[in-house]
Amino acid sequence: MKKILIVDDSQTILLMLESVLNEHPKIEPFFCKSYKDTQKLLKEHKGEFHAALLDLNLPDAPDGEVVDLVNTYNIPSIVLTGTLNKRLLETIQKKDVVDVILKNDKASIKFAIAAIQRTLKNYDTTALVVDDVELYRNIIKKSLKKINLNVLEAKDGQEALDILQKREDITLVITDYDMPIIDGLDLTFKIREKYNKDQVSIIAVSGLESKDIVSKFLKFGANDFIHKPFTHSEIVTRVNSNLELLDLFSRIKELGNTDYLTGAYNRRYFFQSGNAIFSKAKRKNKNLSVATIDIDKFKNINDIYGHDVGDDALKEVKTILDENLRESDLMARFGGEEFCILLEDISLEHTNILFEKIRKCFEANMIETHGIIVSYTVSIGIYFGMANSLEEIIKISDKALFEAKENGRNKVIIYT
Ligand code: GH3
Ligand code: MG
Ligand code: MG
Repeated sequence: MKKILIVDDSQTILLMLESVLNEHPKIEPFFCKSYKDTQKLLKEHKGEFHAALLDLNLPDAPDGEVVDLVNTYNIPSIVLTGTLNKRLLETIQKKDVVDVILKNDKASIKFAIAAIQRTLKNYDTTALVVDDVELYRNIIKKSLKKINLNVLEAKDGQEALDILQKREDITLVITDYDMPIIDGLDLTFKIREKYNKDQVSIIAVSGLESKDIVSKFLKFGANDFIHKPFTHSEIVTRVNSNLELLDLFSRIKELGNTDYLTGAYNRRYFFQSGNAIFSKAKRKNKNLSVATIDIDKFKNINDIYGHDVGDDALKEVKTILDENLRESDLMARFGGEEFCILLEDISLEHTNILFEKIRKCFEANMIETHGIIVSYTVSIGIYFGMANSLEEIIKISDKALFEAKENGRNKVIIYT
C-alpha cells in the first residue's frame, strides 16, 4: 500500500480523483483542501507519503506555497494547475516538480493518475548512468533520484556492461558518447545484442554538435537522445516518457499472453513457457505432471442460466486453481472450458493429493452470481512422467481426461 497526498480546494476534483483512486488497490489516498490542513497532515504522517498531487492555487496559499512545503518533506510532487502561462511554468520548473498538469477537462484527471502511477512505479525501477565525468553523472543522478528511481553508476562502457551482467533489474541506461575503453555507441550496440528496445531503454546524451551522432545512436538501437547541456525538466520528461513506453510494451505483452475473460495465461504462453520447463526437466531426467481440467456438462450451465452465468463459472476455475497451485506451476486456459496445468518438482503421490483436493473444491463450491447459485464438477486427466515433447505429454493427459469423462465425470485419472 502506498500513501499519496492530494491537495486541492475544489470538491469536484477531489471527488473525481477519489472515485478513480478507489479502484487502485495499492494506493491509499489522503485528501486536503488547504495549506493549513496539509501542514497538519504532513506532520502526522511524516515520512509516509510516496507522492503528492498538488493544486498551485489554494485559498490560503495562492502562489504554489504548498509545493515548497511538500518539497521540504522530500515527497515527489505533481502539480495541478488551472492556468499555465510562461511565467508560472518557469516558477514551477524552479521548484523541481515531477510533472505539471493543466486542470482543464476530464482528461487531466487521467493524466494526473498516470503521473502518480509512474512516480510510484519508479520506486521499483533501476537506472544505470554511464559517463566518464563525475559531474555529469551527478547531475543526471540527482534528477533521477528526484523522481524516485534507483540509480547505479558506471564511468565507462565496460563498467556498464559488467554491472548489466550482474543486475537483471536495470531497465534504463543513460549513456554519454565519448568515454574511454568502450564508448556510448559501442555500449549501445553491445546492450542491444542481449536486450531489445522493449526490455532496456537506452537514452544517449552528448554534447557533440554533429547531427551524425544522433542518427548513429538511433541506428545502433538507442531509444532516445538528449543534447548536453540539458535541464532537469528535460531529463525527467524524457526519462518518464521512455519508461512509460516500456510499461506499455509489457502491458501489450501481457495482453498477448493472457485470456481476456479469466485473466489466465493462454495456450500460446503455455507452450512458450512450458517448452522451456519441459527442456529443463528432460535435461535433468526429471518427471513432469500435466493436468487437463474440463468442466463437466458446462453446456448445461449456458443453456439453463445463460452465457453471462457461464462466463462467471469459467472465471471461478481460475480463482480455485490460483488458490490451490504454487507460484511456479504453469496454468493456462486452453480454450472453451478446458484448462491445462504443468507442474515440475512434484511427486506422483503429491500430484494425486493435490488434484483430488482441487476436484473436491469444485464439488463443494457454490457460485453466487446474477441472483442465483450454480455449482459444477470437473474432470481431471493427468500424465505423470516424461515423453518426447510437451505436446505428447498433453495428449496423454487428454486421454486420461477422456477416461475420466467416460467413467462418470467428477474424477481424477492419472496415467504414468
Ligand atoms: P462434458 O462434460 O463432456 O465436458 O460436457 P460439456 O457440456 O462441458 O462440453 P461441451 O464441449 O459439449 O460444451 C462446452 C461448452 O462450453 C460449449 C460452449 O458454448 C461453452 N463455452 C466455451 N467457451 C465459453 C465461454 O467463453 N463462455 C461461456 N459462457 N461458454 C463457453
Ligand atoms: Mg565523456
Ligand atoms: Mg466440458
